[in-house]
Amino acid sequence: MIEIKGLTKVYQMGDNKVWALKGVDLLIEEGDFVAIMGPSGSGKSTLTQILGLLDSPTSGSYKLNGREVGHLTEEDLAILRREEIGFIFQQFNLLPRMDAAENVSLPLFYSKKSGGRDAGQKLLERVGLGPRSHHKPKEMSGGQQQRVAIARSLVNAPRIIMADEPTGNLDSVSEEEIMKILQELNAQGITILMVTHEDSIAEKAKRIIRIRDGEVLSDERRVPHKAPGVSIARIPPPPPPIGWRDIKEHFIQGKRTLAANKIRTALSMLGILIGVASVVAMLAIGRGAQESIEAQLSSLGSNMLVLRTGNIRRGGVAQLESASRMEYQDAKMLMEKLPAIKEAVPTVNGQVTVSFLNKNRSTQVIGTTPGYQELRNAKPTLGRFFTDTEDQSRARVTVIGTTVVKDLFGDKNPIGESLKVNKVNFLIIGVLPSKSGGWRDENDVVIVPLQTGMKRLLGKTSVDSINIQVRSAEALSRTEDDVLEMMFKEKKVPFSQREDTFEIQNMADIQEALSSTSKTMSVLLASIATISLLVGGIGIMNIMLVSITERTKEIGLRKAVGARPIDILWQFLAESVVVSVVGGTIGILIGVTVSVLLASVAGWPTSVTWDAIALAFGFSVLVGIVFGVYPARKASLLSPLEALRYE
Ligand code: ADP
Ligand code: MG
Repeated sequence: MIEIKGLTKVYQMGDNKVWALKGVDLLIEEGDFVAIMGPSGSGKSTLTQILGLLDSPTSGSYKLNGREVGHLTEEDLAILRREEIGFIFQQFNLLPRMDAAENVSLPLFYSKKSGGRDAGQKLLERVGLGPRSHHKPKEMSGGQQQRVAIARSLVNAPRIIMADEPTGNLDSVSEEEIMKILQELNAQGITILMVTHEDSIAEKAKRIIRIRDGEVLSDERRVPHKAPGVSIARIPPPPPPIGWRDIKEHFIQGKRTLAANKIRTALSMLGILIGVASVVAMLAIGRGAQESIEAQLSSLGSNMLVLRTGNIRRGGVAQLESASRMEYQDAKMLMEKLPAIKEAVPTVNGQVTVSFLNKNRSTQVIGTTPGYQELRNAKPTLGRFFTDTEDQSRARVTVIGTTVVKDLFGDKNPIGESLKVNKVNFLIIGVLPSKSGGWRDENDVVIVPLQTGMKRLLGKTSVDSINIQVRSAEALSRTEDDVLEMMFKEKKVPFSQREDTFEIQNMADIQEALSSTSKTMSVLLASIATISLLVGGIGIMNIMLVSITERTKEIGLRKAVGARPIDILWQFLAESVVVSVVGGTIGILIGVTVSVLLASVAGWPTSVTWDAIALAFGFSVLVGIVFGVYPARKASLLSPLEALRYE
C-alpha cells in the first residue's frame, strides 16, 4: 500500500542544511497498525507529513497504492489527500467558528459527497460525541476535540489514517478512549500509521518502527499481520469542475465568515460603499445638469439665429452708427426677401421695476412682437399674448413670467390686474409658461409690445436684436450668410466695416458647445467617482490580505482535508465579491438618496437613471473580483504544511 525507497528530506535553515530524513526505506501493507517511535527531532513528523501528502520529499520514491506520487500535481495531491488519507494532528486543528458536526463534515464540501451535517452527526456518534454536535471546539475538552478530529478524518471513508502524536496533548483517560477508537478502526480494515513516543501507546500497535536522526533503527512486528492481497489503486474520481452549487456554497460560507467579523467587514465595505455612492450621485448630477441645459436650449426654440449690432456702436465709430441701427422694418424686410426664414422677431431688453399694491421687484423687460410667442415657445398658459394692433398703438399691456406672479400676486389670478412698470400702469393680459433650468431665472420677466417698450419704457429708437427662426436646420448656416449679406446691402455698409457692423449668433453652435461642455463635466465627475471606487477596491484587497494572514492556519487545515487550490481561490473570491456587492448595494441606496436630497433641498437638477445604477453595481462586482483575485490566489498557493505551522 505504502512503499518508500531512499526517502530524504533536507530543510534549509539559512546557510545550514538539516537532514531530517536520511534515506528511509519502508513498506506498509494494507490493514496494518504501525507505530513510529523515536526521540524528539528524529524525523517522525517529517516522515508522516510526507506519507500524508502534506509535504514532499527532497529525494527518493514514494508509491501510494502503486502510484508514484512525486509526479502528481497540487490538484491531484489534494484529491488523494481527501479520498485516501485521514490525518489526525496533535493540535486537533478544528476550525473554531464551526460546531462539531460542521467540522466533521467539512471535507465533504470538497469531495462533493452527500451527507452534510447528518454524516457529521453519524460519525460523532461513532466516536461517542453524538450529543455534542452543536458544540464549538472551545466548549469541549482536549479529548473530545481529538475525537471530533478523528471523526473528521473518517468522513471521506479513507483507507489510511495518519496520526501524529494524537494523544500527545491529552490526559490518560482520553488517551485510552482515542486508542480504543483507533484499534476499532484498524479492526475494520483501515490502515493506521501513528507517531508516538510513549511505549504504552506503541504497544497497542501491531508493528513498531523506531527511527533516530532520520534513519530507521529497528522494525519490530508484535502481532502477525497478513495483507488482504494485492492493494488495488483506487482511482480517485476526476476533479469535478466548480459548479454553480459550489459557488453558491462558497458564497454562503463567505457570508458567514464576514458576519463573524462585523467591524472589519463593515470597514472594508465602507470604501466600496463611498465609491459606489459617489458614482451614482456624480452621474445623477452630471446627467441632471445635461438635461437642464437641454431643456433650456429647447426653450430657446429650434433653428434660431440672433442678429445683433456689432462692435461699432460699442466701439463708437460715429459715422457708422446709423448704418448699424436695426429697426422693426428690417425684420419685416428679411422675412420678405429670404423665404428660408419662418419668422423674424425684433426685441429690445431692459431692466425695470414692477410693483403691485405695496410689493415691488426689479425684473427684466422684453419688448417684442406677437411672433415671439411662437419663436420662443412662450404661448401664455393663462390669458393671451398681445396683438399687432396693440403693438402699433403702443398699448400698455403686458404678459408676465411666473416668478413675477408668485412674488407680487401669490396665489391670486393676476389677469386683469394693473401692474405698475416703472410707475406706468400696465394691464396684465397673460401669464407665460414656466421654464425650467438655466443659470438665471427665465421666469423673472415681463413682456410688453415692442413699440410700447421702445417708446414708453426704455426710450430706445432702434431694436437690440432680431431673432430669426429658419425653416430647417439644413438651411441654417446658409441663411446666416444671407441675412448678413442682406443687411450690409440694405444699410450700405462699406466692405471695410462689414466685420464690425453686425454680428449673428447661430444658436445651434451654442447648443453644441454647451452640450459638449456638459458632457465633459459628466465624464470628469464620473472619473473622479471611479477613482474613489478604485480606492475602495484597494481597501478590500488590503483587508483580504490581512484576513488571509490571519486565517493561514485555517487555509492549511482546509488544504490538509482535501481542498484544492481552486476551492481556496473561490472561497476568498466569494468573500471579496460579497463585500463589494453588499457595499455596492448600500452605496447605490445612499447615492440615490443623496441625489434626491440634492434635488429637493439644494435645488440641484439631478437625474438618477437605471443604467447609472446598473453601471455602479457592475463596477462594484468587478472591483470585488479584480481586487479579490490577488489575495485569493495568494491564499490558494499556500503550501498546506507551511500554512498549518503558521502562528
Ligand atoms: P520529530 O517529529 O521526530 O520530533 P521532526 O520531523 O519534526 O521530528 O523534525 C526532524 C528534524 O527536522 C529536526 O531536527 C527539526 O528541527 C527539523 N525540522 C523539522 N521541520 C523543520 C522545518 N520546517 N524547518 C527546518 N527544520 C525543520
Ligand atoms: Mg513531531
